[in-house]
Formats: sequence, structure tokens, C-alpha cells
Amino acid sequence: MESLPLIIDGQQIQVDNHQPVRNPANGDIVGHAPVATTAHLDRAVAAAAAAFVSWKDTGDKERQAYCRAIADRIADNAESLARLLTLEQGKPLNGLGARFELEGAQAWTRVTAELTLPVEVVQDNGEGRVEVHRRPIGVVGSITPWNWPVMIACWHVIPAIRAGNTVVIKPSPLTPLSTIRLVQLMNEVLPRGVVNLVTGAGEIGTAMSSHPGISKVTFTGSIATGKRIMATSAETLKRLTLELGGNDAGIVLPDADPASIAEGLFWGAFINSGQTCAALKRLYVHDSIYEPVCDALVEYSRKIVMGDGLSEATVLGPLQNEMQFKKVRELVDDARGRGARILVGGKPLDGPGFFYPVTLVADIDHGSPLVDEEQFGPALPIIRYRDENAVITKANDNPTGLGGSIWSKDIDKARVLAARLQCGSVWINKHGMIQPNAPFGGVKQSGFGVEFGVDGLKEFTTIQSVFS
Ligand code: NAD
Repeated sequence: MESLPLIIDGQQIQVDNHQPVRNPANGDIVGHAPVATTAHLDRAVAAAAAAFVSWKDTGDKERQAYCRAIADRIADNAESLARLLTLEQGKPLNGLGARFELEGAQAWTRVTAELTLPVEVVQDNGEGRVEVHRRPIGVVGSITPWNWPVMIACWHVIPAIRAGNTVVIKPSPLTPLSTIRLVQLMNEVLPRGVVNLVTGAGEIGTAMSSHPGISKVTFTGSIATGKRIMATSAETLKRLTLELGGNDAGIVLPDADPASIAEGLFWGAFINSGQTCAALKRLYVHDSIYEPVCDALVEYSRKIVMGDGLSEATVLGPLQNEMQFKKVRELVDDARGRGARILVGGKPLDGPGFFYPVTLVADIDHGSPLVDEEQFGPALPIIRYRDENAVITKANDNPTGLGGSIWSKDIDKARVLAARLQCGSVWINKHGMIQPNAPFGGVKQSGFGVEFGVDGLKEFTTIQSVFS
């Protein structure tokens, strides 16, 4: 099986040490990823720093054209990238799976290509002219997770280079193959050194966040790792964007129609088998429609085919790794032990692979780890409530604040309640529907900084005020 390279200064670098990457659906080895050393990282940072000298002065229109060309390369190779993604990540080709992720990667790349940051004139009078310019920062270190590896790589790399920075990216060691292929494609169109790739585990991530040649780290991953990155980057005072975990609440008001919201609730929670930062992870349903909502979700879940992602019939795949698989199993077992009612699912599926079925857990409340912690898997706790103020308090009673949702026919009322939720995004009658022109980010321990849109692009710049 092919051993993939690092990509440094436009060159494919073969290394001595490789690590097998396994298909979570059956344990088969699907490729061998290189394992970089800190010497490789130093070379990658040096290449990015050298490329920055001319890339930062490359014209705006030219950089836009490069980003469009990358989108075209992704489009031309979408099906093969999607297959590689399915093999290493487990998500299905179909449905909201790998092909959907590749469509997202293209959409984000194309929209970001068209964004501009014009010079702002804050004063122009007899006392003088003051212009606010957005300058690139330098070498950006990008550290990505295993849940949406291709799309998140584009979320990091494209705005960074669009704004005039150069990049060293490190994908998760659990899903490095599709990112290596993506960066190969980027290097087919970009000048050498603009986007470099190293691979490896946490040690390389630590070396990136403490590296004096890296000026900013953009990180998507767990809260624990985000805190470590913040600590290790303090010495060099790096700029940081931290997109961390969430435990999103959805609140169903008494006027909602269970049958018509079931599909949206289901996919809000179970997209990518629940392994999505802004998935619905705690569902609060008013007592008056609690059982009908549970019944509608159970009925919808019976249509769902979980299996090997390469089968076109499959719409949900396995958990990506053993640690996540064990975590979901333990959380559900614990909830059952505390007397919660398992409406559907609740036990791992037979056979190879990290398959855990869609699991709906009723009669559960705060104090149960399945509610209080981020499960990051296909198990949704459904909590009964009676009082509107009390449910808002409960929704906010969590250290995270990524997203939230309100489900109601009364949109004005839902907007009023949205303002009371402590989170970076609120959806009404949907959940997790991010888009490339709208800023997305967390509050509280879900991180800081935003991605997407003009605000996201600004995160890859520093301000220079020019007084004349
Ligand atoms: P993780 O934190 O374990 O790993 C993410 C990346 O960090 C990997 O590339 C890993 O190798 C690297 N890393 C590990 N230790 C490091 C260190 N000390 N310094 C620097 N880098 C290090 O996260 P994960 O398990 O891959 O991803 C799942 C988590 O990510 C979930 O909590 C999820 O909610 C979160 N997530 C958040 C968003 C968002 O936008 N907010 C999106 C996707 C995932």
C-alpha cells in the first residue's frame, strides 16, 4: 500500500517512519501516513517563511485566482477524495457524508476567494487622514481534527492564504490521508512553500504552538488540547483562533409540530454519527409534547441505514476511533444504570468496526454525564421541561457555548429566546447549518475567534493604522 509523503516547499518528502491508517468500519489498513520529526517541522516553517516574502505582496486579484484554481482542483478530484475520506474517516459517501464534505470544501473555498478587506478610512479632514489596513500575519500553523478533515483544512488554509499568509498544516494522525491529497492538489497550483504539510501526533502540534517561526495558530479540536495550545503558545505570544468542543442545546417549545421537526432534529444531532462540533447534543422538549417528539424521532430513526460508508445505501457510518466508541458506550451504559429509558439503540452493533447505533435516551436530566459532557457520538439525551425560564437556565448551565437551537412555529418568540442563549450561533427550526458567509465561533470554553465570512478572514490579519 502506498506510503504518502510530507509536503514541504512544494516537494513531496518521503520519510523513514510511517504509521498505518485504519478504516474504522473494519480495521483494514487503508494507507500509511508519514510521521514527521521536529526537524521536518523546522524545514516546513522555513519554507513557509521564505514563501511569505513574495506571497504577502502578491496582488489581491492574483491570490483570488489561486483560491479559485484550488476550488477547481478539488472539484476535479472530488470523487477520489471522497472515497479516501470514507476509507479513513468512516463517514458514508452518500447523504451528509464524504461527498457532502467535498461540496462544502469547494463552497467554502469559492466564497472565501471572493472576500475582500478594503482599506478603511476612519478620518480624512483638515487634521489628517487615517487609513486602517489589514496586513497578513506571517506563517500560520493549522492543526485539524478527524471529524471533518477536508472541510476543516479548507476553513483554515484558504482564508489564511487569501489574506496573504503562508501555512504549515498538521492533520489528525487518525485521518491524515485525505489532507495530504488535498495539500498535494493545492501545491499543483500554488507557488512553492505557500502551503506545507507535516503529520504526526500531539508532539508535533506542541512543537507548532511553541515554534518561534509560526505567528498564528488556528486550531479545531478538543477543549483540553485548546487549553494546552494556549499555554504553549504564550511564550511567543501567538495569535490564536480556537474552535473547540460544544454541548449544544436544542429547545422544543410546546407549539412545535413533532412530525414536521423530527427530520431536522435527527440530522441536527446525528450528522456524521454525532461527531460534529456544532451537533445537537442535548434536546429539551416541553412536557406537553415530550412523548410525541420522542415517538417521531424513534420513527424517523428506523429509516436510517448505518454501515460501511462505501455502500451507497449507507447514510451513517461508524465512530471514527476506539476511544470515541468506548466513550459513547460508557456514557449510554451509565445513563441506563441511572434509570434513563433507552428508546432505540443502546448497545454496540455486532461485527468488526466501531459501529454504535443511533441511540435515543429519554427520562434523563442534568447530573448524568450523557447530558453534562460532550458525547461526540450517536447518542442523544432527551430532557423533559415545563418552565421556559428554567429550560434557558439549564441550556446555559454548561461550560461550553458553541451553538443552540429553538424549535417553534412562533419565529418572533424563538428570536427572543435565542438572545438568551449563551452561544456563538443560534438556529431556529434547524441546527448546525453553518454557511461560508456567516461568522461561526464559540463563547465560553468553546473557544474564541470566528471563522468564515469577512470576520473570519480578518482573523488572519493584523491591523496597521497609517496616519498622514
Ligand atoms: P484533539 O484535540 O484530540 O485533536 C485535534 C488536533 O490536535 C489533532 O491534529 C491532534 O494531533 C492535535 N493535538 C493533540 N495534542 C496536541 C497538543 N498538545 N498541541 C497541539 N496539537 C495537539 O481533537 P479531536 O479528538 O481530533 O476532535 C474532536 C474535538 O474537536 C471535539 O471536542 C469537537 O467538538 C471538536 N471540534 C470542534 C470544532 C469547532 O469548530 N468548534 C469542529 C470540529 C471538532
